[in-house]
Amino acid sequence: MTEPVTVTRFAPSPTGHLHKGHAFAAWQAFNFAREQNGRFLLRIEDIDFNRCDPANTQQILEDLAWLGLEWEEPVRIQSEHLDDYQKAAETLKDRGFIYPCFCTRKDIEREIEAAGHAPHGSEGPVYPGICRALSIDERETKIASGESYSLRLDLEKALEATARQLTWSDSGAGEQCAHPERLGDAVIVRKDIGTSYHLAVVVDDGLQGVTDIVRGIDLFESTHLHVVLQELLGIPTPNYHHHPLLTDETGARLAKRNQSITLKALRESGMTVEELRTLLHPGP
Ligand code: GLU
Repeated sequence: MTEPVTVTRFAPSPTGHLHKGHAFAAWQAFNFAREQNGRFLLRIEDIDFNRCDPANTQQILEDLAWLGLEWEEPVRIQSEHLDDYQKAAETLKDRGFIYPCFCTRKDIEREIEAAGHAPHGSEGPVYPGICRALSIDERETKIASGESYSLRLDLEKALEATARQLTWSDSGAGEQCAHPERLGDAVIVRKDIGTSYHLAVVVDDGLQGVTDIVRGIDLFESTHLHVVLQELLGIPTPNYHHHPLLTDETGARLAKRNQSITLKALRESGMTVEELRTLLHPGP
């Protein structure tokens, strides 16, 4: 029997130029694939058209080639696959796992203030469920009147349908039980872009057959939600490898200020890739 092939990926968002932290993260994913004799993919996560610029994508490709990374072609560009995310959202909608939410940020703040408290999740206060309680008629009236809306996960319904403890295997933290209540009824389809990071990343990792996700520990909390979406969409949960973030020589996390020295600037200052490699120290 042949062993399954490891597939991993690096998935930058072209919101700016890459810096040392990205170089560190890219090498983590690339080296993992090499060590496993696996495949390495590159994906450009540019769904947020308010913040992404195609010129940055070109720069990212140049920077990654300079770092010595080799990836399979074609590179998956998320903005070219919006249909895939829409299809997944339709599936969730048809099964009643997402509902329209018309709230503005202000509405949510007001509701939380009136309640006097709100369960605090890993990404801020959890959505207090205002629009979950709307009747079908109320929803239809609002939609017909042109009110804009996002689509939120109905977590309670999703977990009822799942009816088992969701877990994932994490090479750093060990076997993990998912606690999606920390993110609550998260936004799955944003008002402005017609999808979300969470939905797009889960759909793409599934479509691309990614078996091992190597990414920064800053995305650890999102995994609690991603495993729920994988379950609902029938996508196998990959193995996760959340690596520490880059620190400076003293072990302190890189400040934004230091991060802002781009790879392009370092290269143009005459730095070699070997020199760069010796500067990158992972944090604890
Ligand atoms: N595009 C995300 C970022 O640049 C990474 C997504 C992921 O690795 O899951 O932070």
